[in-house]
Amino acid sequence: MLKKIILLGATGSIGNSALRLLRKNKNLYHLIGVSAHNNAKLLSEIVNEFNVQNVVLSDCKNVNEYYGIHQLKVGSLELKNLAKLDCDIVISGITGLSGLYPAYEAISSGNDLAIANKEPLVAAGQIFMNKVKQTGAKILPVDSEHSAIFQCIQYNDNLDFITLTASGGPFLNYDIDSLDNVTPEMALNHPVWDMGDKISIDSATMFNKALEIIEASVLFDLTYEKIDVVIHPQSIIHGLVHYKDGSILANLGYPDMITPLSVALSWPDRVDLNLKKIKLTDIGNLTFIEPDYKKFPALNLGWEVLKNNKLSPIVLNAANEIAVKLFLENKIKFTSIFKLVSEIIDIYQPSDALTIDEVIYIDNIARLKSIDYFNRKL
Ligand code: NDP
Ligand code: MG
Repeated sequence: MLKKIILLGATGSIGNSALRLLRKNKNLYHLIGVSAHNNAKLLSEIVNEFNVQNVVLSDCKNVNEYYGIHQLKVGSLELKNLAKLDCDIVISGITGLSGLYPAYEAISSGNDLAIANKEPLVAAGQIFMNKVKQTGAKILPVDSEHSAIFQCIQYNDNLDFITLTASGGPFLNYDIDSLDNVTPEMALNHPVWDMGDKISIDSATMFNKALEIIEASVLFDLTYEKIDVVIHPQSIIHGLVHYKDGSILANLGYPDMITPLSVALSWPDRVDLNLKKIKLTDIGNLTFIEPDYKKFPALNLGWEVLKNNKLSPIVLNAANEIAVKLFLENKIKFTSIFKLVSEIIDIYQPSDALTIDEVIYIDNIARLKSIDYFNRKL
């Protein structure tokens, strides 16, 4: 039986890796639904190549550019409807908190969710985990570090802690004083991964790793002191699980999102992707470096938010999304991203959100406060 797949964010970087995976495995997977936000042309190509029946463009701006062979549905309500169609697994490669409603819709309807889109897990993690307990849907991590932990973790009283690796991003070896003047182009130029703009900037500031610390605490039910981060520039080891008997299980692989996507789609089975084989002697050295918390203060905020329950992960995420956008538009300096986010999580400390609508409410206020801070102070 072919597994029926719905791919949200088909036109992005994760979408592209997922399509590469599906192209290689036409005998296993059948793509029955796809979404994009604006890129109607690429969406049409995908629909025509894979003969996808259910197609959504979540923004209406470019509908006239659509030339796919199947009917196009438009708007955010249609995106939610797409995520709850009967299928074996929904992949979410949407960027930012915009993926919240469709991902939540997927698990609410009982669909399994292979999730790359970390922001909804950061902002609404507990609500997601409660929902899957209710519906029986599974959340399968696609973020490479979390896929690594997922593959190595054995739930056990004697699990000691986990390590998430970080490439260090494009500014790993930059002088701290030069970071004030780096441009969006420089920040988008990631040394290892080819990703969308938002996550590329997050990798440069290391907010990405802060989000991933929170993501890991949600997915694996771990407290802050059980999550460690180490810089590993080669990005060959993606994550490690340390046990108290001295054993450490690590997951290795070339940095290519096709692998974590394949793990999520086939779990607990494995598929032959016929990839270039890893030759350890070609790689030679694997290096590990302590993060520089002065240069990348954003990293600490991941632990801070878990430690101090007055600080809200929703606010952290929202302020960061606004700050990244402002930086990409050349309106603020690279170093002001951290300044803005740390200010907003200090001044806006809402009580816990218990529903998705409350998450959105807090998110909206945090965005308004971020814009206000930018207008007044930056
Ligand atoms: P991209 O920016 O490359 O792609 C984003 C996708 O989401 C596109 O299909 C885009 O459509 C769609 N989209 C954009 N805005 C909206 C919106 N408001 N509503 C609905 N859909 C929207 O991002 P990435 O693929 O790099 O990242 C996706 C997610 O996966 C992020 O959360 C990221 O953190 C995570 N991730 C990514 C990795 C990677 O290697 N890229 C690795 C690990 C995690 P359109 O093209 O039409 O604008
Ligand atoms: Mg990652």
